[in-house]
Amino acid sequence: MSNLRLRTTPIPGHRDSYTGVDFNLGFHVTHYDLDLFYKIVPNRLEGTATLTLTTWRDLDHLTLDLADTMRVRSVATASAAVKRFRQSGNKLRISFAEPVPVDTEFRLAIRYQGNPRPRRTAWGHLGWEELTNGALTANQPNGAPTWFPCDDTPDEKATYSIRLRPDQPYQVIATSTARPIPTYLATVNVGEFVRHQLGRNTVGWLPRGVAPGDFALQQRMLDYFEGVFGPYPFEDYQVVVHEDTLEIPLEAAGASIFGRNHTSGNERLIAHELAHQWFGNSLGIAQWNDIWLNEGFACYSEWLWADFSGQMPIDASVRAHYRALTPQDFTIADPGPRNMFDDRVYKRGAITLHALRRTVGDEAFFAAVRSYVARSSYGVVEPFDLANALRPYGDIDPVWDAWLNHTALPECP
Ligand SMILES: [Zn+2]
Repeated sequence: MSNLRLRTTPIPGHRDSYTGVDFNLGFHVTHYDLDLFYKIVPNRLEGTATLTLTTWRDLDHLTLDLADTMRVRSVATASAAVKRFRQSGNKLRISFAEPVPVDTEFRLAIRYQGNPRPRRTAWGHLGWEELTNGALTANQPNGAPTWFPCDDTPDEKATYSIRLRPDQPYQVIATSTARPIPTYLATVNVGEFVRHQLGRNTVGWLPRGVAPGDFALQQRMLDYFEGVFGPYPFEDYQVVVHEDTLEIPLEAAGASIFGRNHTSGNERLIAHELAHQWFGNSLGIAQWNDIWLNEGFACYSEWLWADFSGQMPIDASVRAHYRALTPQDFTIADPGPRNMFDDRVYKRGAITLHALRRTVGDEAFFAAVRSYVARSSYGVVEPFDLANALRPYGDIDPVWDAWLNHTALPECP
């Protein structure tokens, strides 16, 4: 019997089919309190993550996601005796001496340390990333466990308080939010920044000697999107610009992260990242296959801004991107993990919204979008939430089905 090795086979519903991460079952994390120290040289992160959990069944053990590069020193809780903990396969498994009963709220304090580094994934290197002069986190979709223990799935939202103390002379822009967000939107940025007040509730953190450039438009853009989608969902909006060149900007809760290459000629990306505060950050998706809900709206917002600011009428943007859409070999309702960040998900998602707008009319479309946003703020949405908001205004179902559930490209709306 000792030679018998049991293979664990994936059980449907127990694993995220996009990220391949096994779900951590039996509890919800409602708050993450991260108290961390970081030494740029030699890239050393240490501290304590205190998680507030609520059990939804009796638990004799639980698991969390944490990269094996980060080593746990101790696990403590006041309400249950921790029997043991161990790490393997990017999971931290914690066993209790006595089961923690269902509906118990308790805190887990996890002391850990290590040299954080990005993980290699199908979507490139994700997670904690050292820069020439600082560091950032690129979590989406499953990089967060490279720097803190968490329940890394998009529909498990929690509030955050992150304090990270770096060595001199570095500063930190990190997430603290009383609004529930998924793990991938928690961010830490370490660098030498100069603060620029960009408007009433928009702040820029830029490298010394770098002018805000296109970010000077940030407040005007935010005011415009508030008019279109409803109130800005977070307290303020922070734009972090790193000294390094970044391939793509990143959205985070109440913040967006750019490279210095994005300060001019990238108005479109500035609009895109800002729009994610409504679509993705406030209205979260339950499953990664619904990524078009985030990216379709973010992309459509680029075109809305281009139209509003007099650069290009919306129909011209739609036509130009429609022409570039072929070939289509996946549906955007479920593009598959390899295609989840494919530009065709973004653009077809945006054109889908335009097709729906053409079906119900401008006024009805934006009223429906505002009600969709207001109804699900800080929660989790699924495509039917948007469909239900639109249905009272017209027969959207044939359009919805053709654009989302089939590969063939319908006519340009
Ligand atoms: Zn995006």
